[in-house]
Amino acid sequence: MQGFLDRLLAHERYFITTHLRPDGDAIGSQLALARFLTKLGKHVTLINADPPPDALAWLPGVDAVEVFDGSIRQRELIDAADAVVIVDTNALDRVGKVGAAVKAARGTSYLIDHHTSPEAWFDAALSVDTASSTGELVYGLIEAHDPGLIDTPLAEALYTAIMTDTGSFRFASVTPRVHRIVADLLERGKLSPAPIHVALYDTRRLGALRLLARALETITLAHEGQVATMTLSLRLMRASDAHSDETEGFVNYALSIGGVKAAVIFLETAAGVKMSFRSKGDTYVHEWARHFGGGGHRNASGAFVTKPLERLIHEVIDVAPRYLAFGGEGTPPDDADLLAMLKQKFHAT
Ligand code: 5GP
Ligand code: MN
Repeated sequence: MQGFLDRLLAHERYFITTHLRPDGDAIGSQLALARFLTKLGKHVTLINADPPPDALAWLPGVDAVEVFDGSIRQRELIDAADAVVIVDTNALDRVGKVGAAVKAARGTSYLIDHHTSPEAWFDAALSVDTASSTGELVYGLIEAHDPGLIDTPLAEALYTAIMTDTGSFRFASVTPRVHRIVADLLERGKLSPAPIHVALYDTRRLGALRLLARALETITLAHEGQVATMTLSLRLMRASDAHSDETEGFVNYALSIGGVKAAVIFLETAAGVKMSFRSKGDTYVHEWARHFGGGGHRNASGAFVTKPLERLIHEVIDVAPRYLAFGGEGTPPDDADLLAMLKQKFHAT
């Protein structure tokens, strides 16, 4: 951590970006890191492939986040940076259109992230997959340098990052340290949590709740009630008065059913199907998501697939026992089983 921090702070011009469809942890971590660096007299540029969601429009400093447009000006800004920092994702394809510019940039590349299986091309990485959030890691960096730099905007950004990525402090990733960090943020930033929760969760539109009602009706159980799916077809989306952003969190209703260990929501778009995987406790979904070209965390993962919706749903349910520890016949194959399976696949006549 200290070695990473020393190296990170040795630059003057920074470019920070984050993942597609940025969430609270992505934007919160990006803004907090930017404020920290700015307070140290550094020059910081923030450019993302997608705009921040409306629910985060109140975050101080969010207006400094530009949407990548491929312009010469933006390319020059990226190229002028001697440090390129990616936060809250560890895969180049997750930063979308900014990816090519990131890879071509001449600056030293840094990763600050908490997802599993980081890509190996970063010059330096703070990659901790047991961390609750990228915000927790950014806090650690600031704490190690000078926690006195934490003011209200910085605390609001980090509180938002940590709170949203821990499902309001209830996921398995929450530790005593997370609560100590939050206590420190409330104190130093003189924060009141209630308005932040209202801004993030109690500003829904009626149309979004009507869509939720219809989404709840699509919930189906499989594998003896241990897997729940929810399906938002393009037809359902088009018939509703809601935007796909407003389906954030819907999957948790499927997961909230007793006995359900893992839940998947299928959100059909014109370009393909966006899947969100969620699970409870020691049922892990990241390998399941990886099977479909995605990834993420043990208890929260995602993937984007261009397959017909119905076929995809069948496939996802079909392969579930391979990745989820159901016990009995559902246990994942051990190495010997896998070897036998592969042999059969490749040497069968
Ligand atoms: P969500 O379901 O909220 O979109 O994402 C949950 C987690 O899965 C996030 O931490 C996110 O980084 C990861 N994730 C979501 N979509 C994708 C994807 O298409 N590819 C990969 N590799 N990870 C994803
Ligand atoms: Mn995160």
